[in-house]
Amino acid sequence: MADTGAFHIKGTLQTKALYQYILETSAYPREHEMLKEIREATINKYSYLSDMLVPADEGQFLSMLLKIINAKNTLELGVFTGYSLLVTALALPSDGKITAIDINREAYETGLPFIRKAGVEHKINFINSNALPILDEMLTTTNVDGMELFDFAFVDADKPNFINYHERLLKLIKIGGLIAYDNTLWYGTVAVDEEEVQEDMKDYRRAILGLNAFLASDPRIELSQISIGDGVTLCRRIR
Ligand code: SAH
Ligand code: CA
Repeated sequence: MADTGAFHIKGTLQTKALYQYILETSAYPREHEMLKEIREATINKYSYLSDMLVPADEGQFLSMLLKIINAKNTLELGVFTGYSLLVTALALPSDGKITAIDINREAYETGLPFIRKAGVEHKINFINSNALPILDEMLTTTNVDGMELFDFAFVDADKPNFINYHERLLKLIKIGGLIAYDNTLWYGTVAVDEEEVQEDMKDYRRAILGLNAFLASDPRIELSQISIGDGVTLCRRIR
């Protein structure tokens, strides 16, 4: 049987060779030099943790999406070394703004020189914090009333909090705006019996299963589960 790549390998395609084909044919040739540099610096410093960065094909999908919706004001929860952040910064117009939140400043600073070299640092407001209290702060009446709502949010921090982020984001994203949740297929484990799942994958698997079921029944959004990277669920706020 063909290797389905279903266990702890990103991607939902039938074979690894097919995925390699996509990367080599259309993703890598178009990947910005500074994105390549961030990936390389991340591998050098963080080894296997570099797997947390969105893959090149997903980066291109996000970039296309941001341009299609004409995003100007975006939010990112979970930055790490800034691959998806640089993707976003490159896709936004020169007066675009990204509010990016992460508890790990050191990781952000690992990618920052490349973001600077790409000439897009001015679009970024990095907040070194736990994401939830910052969202709550934005939501205090004095702030939210005078605030320009977000066009887009990329949610890629701690998975067990995704449901908590969702409630807040539905007030912080404008109607018609998009929330993209990353890793919603959790390395394929969402479709594997719990006993067969590696121990250290179980907690996030459970959180993602809960999130996916919740989103599917949430009447405040339209949704599309995209089979790219480790799964991205797009939610469009409709009320
Ligand atoms: N979006 C990045 C990868 C993010 S990895 C990319 O694709 O390039 C997940 C990040 O979430 C890590 O850097 C981690 O520090 C951050 N994180 C985890 N829990 C968090 C929390 N409660 N609040 C903010 N950031 C958090
Ligand atoms: Ca991710």
